Amino acid sequence: MPSRNIFDTEHQIFRESVRKFLAEEVTPFHDQWEKDGVVPREVWNKAAKAGLLLPTISVQYGGSGADFRFGAILTEEIGYSSSSGLGIPLHNDIVAPYIEAYGSEELKRNWLPKMASAEAIGAICMTEPGTGSDLQGVKTSAQEDGDHFIINGQKTFITNGQNADIMIVVAKTDPKKGARGTSLILVESTREGFSRGRNLDKIGLKAQDTSELFFQDVRVPKSNLIGEVNQGFVYLMEQLPRERLLSALRAMATVEAALEWTVSYTKEREAFGSKIFDFQNTKFKLAEVRANAVVGRVFIDRCIELLLDNNLDIETAAIAKLWASEVQGKAVDECLQLFGGYGYMREFPIARLFTDARINRIYAGSSEVMKLIISRHL
Ligand SMILES: Cc1cc2nc3c(=O)[nH]c(=O)nc-3n(C[C@H](O)[C@H](O)[C@H](O)COP(=O)(O)OP(=O)(O)OC[C@H]3O[C@@H](n4cnc5c(N)ncnc54)[C@H](O)[C@@H]3O)c2cc1C
Repeated sequence: MPSRNIFDTEHQIFRESVRKFLAEEVTPFHDQWEKDGVVPREVWNKAAKAGLLLPTISVQYGGSGADFRFGAILTEEIGYSSSSGLGIPLHNDIVAPYIEAYGSEELKRNWLPKMASAEAIGAICMTEPGTGSDLQGVKTSAQEDGDHFIINGQKTFITNGQNADIMIVVAKTDPKKGARGTSLILVESTREGFSRGRNLDKIGLKAQDTSELFFQDVRVPKSNLIGEVNQGFVYLMEQLPRERLLSALRAMATVEAALEWTVSYTKEREAFGSKIFDFQNTKFKLAEVRANAVVGRVFIDRCIELLLDNNLDIETAAIAKLWASEVQGKAVDECLQLFGGYGYMREFPIARLFTDARINRIYAGSSEVMKLIISRHL
C-alpha cells in the first residue's frame, strides 16, 4: 500500500497532540454532549490552550502560521475519533480564512486573535429555509443606511449556531443583481435584532449545535463588510473548494475508522462455528472498502498538495467531495451490516458513524450539485 508522503515530522507531532487532546478531552464526554445537543464552551477554551484553534492563520493575527496540512490533520483525527460534535474545523478552516483573505485590517485584528483564543466562535450563514443548494436565491438583505447595513432575514442549518459569537452572513446588498449583488458581512451575536432559534434535532451529528438564526433590522457598521460590496459570490466560489476538500478528508478518515473497527469486530464475533471475518462475503466486502480507502487516500492527498499550491480548482474539489462522500456512505453501510444487530445500537461507534456520515452527501454542496459542477467541465 502506498505510504502517505505529504506530511513531515512536525505534522506527525501535531497529529499526536490532536490525538491526545481528543482522547483526553473529547471522547470520554461525547456521549453526554450528544444528549445535550451541543459541545460546551469549555472544550473550545481547552482546544485553544492546546493550540488547536486557527493553526493556518498568520501569527500576526493570533494563529500558528502553519500550512493547510495542519487543518487537514485536525479534520482527519476528528473523523477517526468520530468526535462529530466539534465544529472546530469549520471555525478554523472555513470561517477564519474568509476574514483573513478578504477582511479589512481592522476586522482581522479585532476578530482573528479572539477566534484563536476561543473568545469568539465563528459560524458561516449561507443556507436559508427557502434556499440551500442555489445560493443565488438568498433572500436575506443588507440595505445601506448611511454608515451602516440593516440586515433582515433568516438562516437555518447553521453549524455552531448556538455557540457562535460572530457570523459571516451571506446577504443581498443589491437584490436586482442576483449573485452579483451578494456580499459577506460579519455580524456579532451581541447586535440588537439578532436572535437564535431552535437547536435542530438531527438524525446524526447529535452533539453539533446546528441552528436557526434570525436577523431583524440588525444594524451593523459598513466596516463589518468582508472585502468588497457585491463580491460575496466570488469569495464563496474561491473558498468552497477548501470546504469541499475538508468534507472529503473527513469522509476518508471515517472510511478508515469504519474498516478498522469492522475488521476487529468480525475477527472476534462468531456464527455457524466460524469467525464472521472468515466468511468470504465479509472478506470481499472489507476488501472493497479497503481498496476504496487506499485509492481515495492517494487522490485526496493530491488535492491537499494542489490546495497548498493554490491550485485546487472547483471541479477537482467537487470530484473529491462527490467521490469521497459517496464511498463513505456505502462503506459505512457495508461495515454496519457486518456488525449485525449491534451495528444498529448507538452505543457502538459504527452506528453513530452511519448516521453522522449521511450528511456528507448533502452539506457543503450536495452530491447532485457536485455532479452539476463536474458536468459543466465536460
Ligand atoms: C448538519 C448540517 C449542517 C449544516 N451546516 C451549515 C452551515 O454551517 N452553514 C450553512 O450555510 N449551511 C449549512 N448546512 C446547510 C447545507 O449546506 C444545505 O442543507 C445543503 O446545501 C442543501 O441545501 P437544501 O437543504 O436547501 O436542499 P435543496 O437545495 O432544497 O435540495 C434538495 C435536493 O434537491 C437536489 N438539487 C438541488 N438542486 C439541484 C439541481 N440543480 N439538480 C439536481 N438536483 C438538485 C439536492 O441535491 C437535494 O438532493 C448544514 C446542513 C446540515 C443538515
